[in-house]
Amino acid sequence: MVSILMPTGIKEWMVTMDKQIVYNIKEYLKNKGIADIDNEQSKMQLRAEGKVFSTEEHLQGMTYSLLSAQTVWANIERNFAGIDRLFFYYDKDEIKKHDYTYFVMGLKRLGCGSRLTNAQMKALHENIATVEKIISEYGSMDAFVTSRPQRDVVKLMSSNGSKYKIKQFGPALTWEYLRNVGIDGAKPDVHMKRILGSERLGVSTKIEATDDEVLDAVEKLSKETGLWMAEIDYLFWLYCATDKGEICTSSPRCEKCVIREYCNRYKSK
Ligand code: SF4
Repeated sequence: MVSILMPTGIKEWMVTMDKQIVYNIKEYLKNKGIADIDNEQSKMQLRAEGKVFSTEEHLQGMTYSLLSAQTVWANIERNFAGIDRLFFYYDKDEIKKHDYTYFVMGLKRLGCGSRLTNAQMKALHENIATVEKIISEYGSMDAFVTSRPQRDVVKLMSSNGSKYKIKQFGPALTWEYLRNVGIDGAKPDVHMKRILGSERLGVSTKIEATDDEVLDAVEKLSKETGLWMAEIDYLFWLYCATDKGEICTSSPRCEKCVIREYCNRYKSK
């Protein structure tokens, strides 16, 4: 059982989230053929076994993370091969030879554009310069992302004013990038914040859980279940996302929900 102490100003509330929630979602996704994480190779496991991620793999992780914003992820996933080709398999010297419009047009051709594409691609050369600065100071991107606790790395890469800020990265996209290179964590995105909020699983007293509440809750569940934080985050995300589980969406399908007995929204009906 996860316990989170929350000051209310007068007294402390103990809000709990049962690990059975994770198991129910995991089983549901497996039975529906959406995901079977027991049979998927985890990048966290690869890193734990000694894999070092190359600069190209870091740039791929950053690119996938950026492209995941404000779009249907299933569409990006279907086009991984075309995206990898468009970005020259993440050879930064090749990327630098091309203007941002080349990538904007390429992404549109693949049907992978979003309203953020222009701004993201405009920042591409500057972001590569930041990556090169990090490599010159730390020896590699891998050395940098493993040089301090994950939350500190996220702050350095997503905070305005930081010399390591990656343009267009906020905390959620930075967590996504780190997960893509095998650094364990949870992405506090709209799905996670909403499902853990006060009106649903009630980890937070706010309608949307904060970044830290998401991270704390997932970290504790990870300790209890033995699953990576990223796997727990992935399960919740799949349960919510369009073209995946599509259960706990903005208009949730509570009648089909396998964790409804734990949910404030369902209990209050
Ligand atoms: S009961 Fe409804 S609101 Fe609650 S977690 Fe399930 S789908 Fe989401």
